[in-house]
Amino acid sequence: MTEDTSVRDYLRERFFPHMWCPGCGHGIVLNGLVRAVKELGINKNELVMVSGIGCSSRISGYVDFHSLHTVHGRALAFATGVKLSKPGLNVIVPMGDGDALSIGGNHFIHAARRNINITALVMNNRTYGMTGGQCSPMSGVGIKASTAPYASIDNSFDCVELARAAGATFVARTTVAHVNQLSELIKKAIGHNGFSVVEIFSQCPTYFGRKNKLGGAVDMLKAFKEMTVPLGSEKKKGNPALFERGIFVEKELPEYCQAYDQVIARAQKR
Ligand code: SF4
Repeated sequence: MTEDTSVRDYLRERFFPHMWCPGCGHGIVLNGLVRAVKELGINKNELVMVSGIGCSSRISGYVDFHSLHTVHGRALAFATGVKLSKPGLNVIVPMGDGDALSIGGNHFIHAARRNINITALVMNNRTYGMTGGQCSPMSGVGIKASTAPYASIDNSFDCVELARAAGATFVARTTVAHVNQLSELIKKAIGHNGFSVVEIFSQCPTYFGRKNKLGGAVDMLKAFKEMTVPLGSEKKKGNPALFERGIFVEKELPEYCQAYDQVIARAQKR
């Protein structure tokens, strides 16, 4: 169902001003998300946002959808229950990199494996911002954090490759410095019939930026432009420091709720 509405209708303005630090990238994700939802014309009563814990997860409080603010790392487990009980609803799960890929890493892999029609937005700022800038699984070697004052020795991994290997049927990456692409990818992810993942590089100037002497928010946004290239760019060849942006996986496979309905139908015939 569609409705004619303005972007502000998707916001819970009574909860503003928001809690994010000046220059945090998460507000740009919120902007891209509500614009994507408006352009898709989705009735907000048909949208559910389920989040865990962290600065990124606070998005669920600012959108006027049905929202569940759950426990750290378990948002996808709650979202799976919502989707299975009401498959007609659109379910979106905003997560930070720690929430999605460390504490919630197992849920992430298995939601992808099942291909359940949920959209996961992984807002990767390479730190645990809300709790004071600890190392996350995406921080990487050489990064300073409150738990690594002499620099991390932990390798990070690639969220896109993990999602692809686990079976997600829509996998994309962009940054908050690429706002049009951000909104377009979120739109495509919501419209995809299966588990969709959009990794979004987002800046945390308060901890990640300050501890690693990366300058302010504007400098970090510029860095996102310099460290990423469109998927398939010649510049990427032989340059492991560059990250590609775009759609890495987009394919149709049986969706979990639909497959489950078929099981019920088979059982009822017996
Ligand atoms: S601590 Fe970092 S991630 Fe959290 S709101 Fe502040 S800038 Fe954003």
